[in-house]
Amino acid sequence: MAKKKVRVEFRKNRSKPPRSNTWTSEFREHGYEEQATLGDERVRARGDLSRARTIITDDAPAEPGNSPTDQMPSVTTTDLLFGRVIKVLGLHNVVETASGEQYKCAIRRLLKNLHTSERSVVTTGDLVWFKPEANFEGMIMRVEPRHGNLTRASRKKEHVLVANVDQVVIVVSLVEPELKPHLIDRYIAVAMKGDLKPIICLNKADLVEHGNLQPLIGYYNQIGIPTLLTSASSGYGISNLRELLAGKASVFSGQSGVGKSSLLNAVQPGLSLRVRNVSEVNNKGRHTTTTAELIRLEGGGYLVDTPGVRQLELWDTIPEEVEMYFVEFRPFITMCAYPDCSHTHESKCAVKQAVERRLISARRYHSYLGMIKTDKRN
Ligand code: GDP
Ligand code: ZN
Repeated sequence: MAKKKVRVEFRKNRSKPPRSNTWTSEFREHGYEEQATLGDERVRARGDLSRARTIITDDAPAEPGNSPTDQMPSVTTTDLLFGRVIKVLGLHNVVETASGEQYKCAIRRLLKNLHTSERSVVTTGDLVWFKPEANFEGMIMRVEPRHGNLTRASRKKEHVLVANVDQVVIVVSLVEPELKPHLIDRYIAVAMKGDLKPIICLNKADLVEHGNLQPLIGYYNQIGIPTLLTSASSGYGISNLRELLAGKASVFSGQSGVGKSSLLNAVQPGLSLRVRNVSEVNNKGRHTTTTAELIRLEGGGYLVDTPGVRQLELWDTIPEEVEMYFVEFRPFITMCAYPDCSHTHESKCAVKQAVERRLISARRYHSYLGMIKTDKRN
């Protein structure tokens, strides 16, 4: 039987409607200045884990929604090619097939009429069926449903910047700037909220003795978050990182100065240079507005590398939702005496007991407390 992904309601009894976004001031107090992006260029991973989750079922129909991809016409795929939009240049979408051929595609008029709920029916990262024409041109006939979107709020509108991102490489440095484990936990939450798989990269391993980091690394790996030590300078850990990137669409995220550009270059030498050239000047030598684009990796897979996409923000997270981003709490949450336990002041809280019994890291628990406290002051 065919497997299908469907969205189902997720812990609805605990959800509250999202609040208005007054987050930035909270972040500032927590040393987040370096991460604030310019003006309306606030980028966040967007998902609806709080309200729904994706499950795989056998042949269950997907719930209808109102995004354009839900109203997509079905097409016969004979004579069509499948590919990924790697960049959008004005009216043209550059679509790359699995074999690496690029087609300059226009959008079928029928699809353009679906613009209503989102600004663009086709965006970077979209997986599309297109009709190939002469000279590597083509016509996009259908856009597949999206997952793992990076969005940007601009003039109060949500705008999908990159669709179908699989994972976020959370880059932190061990020194310069110093390691802030609580920040890692926030990034993990952002990634999970956006339906993106987190990977942690502890960079600048060449600068410090890192034997004492094993417990931290071991803990994250144990809860299912791949965590690795890297050095963009010495090349340490880079082949491991390359393996994690292969075949996936990834975005690098982290404070400035942690080594994101250096790591990209270490993974694929020459990458940063190329990124800068492509986004600043188009092939006619004119400057273009910087739009997101995907860079194909030699080892397979894509990297999102667009200034402003590198930094993710926590966005309209409600305290009740935060516990879901601490995967190791999950087995205990159901054992708390109160169904709406916040795992703070309550007696008979199974999460707190697990912290006492060292089944949950005290450091992670404190990250959790920090995150719900910030939320409550909203
Ligand atoms: P980004 O702002 O996150 O893109 O960080 P950059 O890649 O620009 O790196 C910031 C600074 O850290 C630069 O001076 C890099 O040379 C340096 N750097 C990056 N990675 C490493 C590393 O693994 N080891 C050392 N020693 N320095 C690094
Ligand atoms: Zn509890």
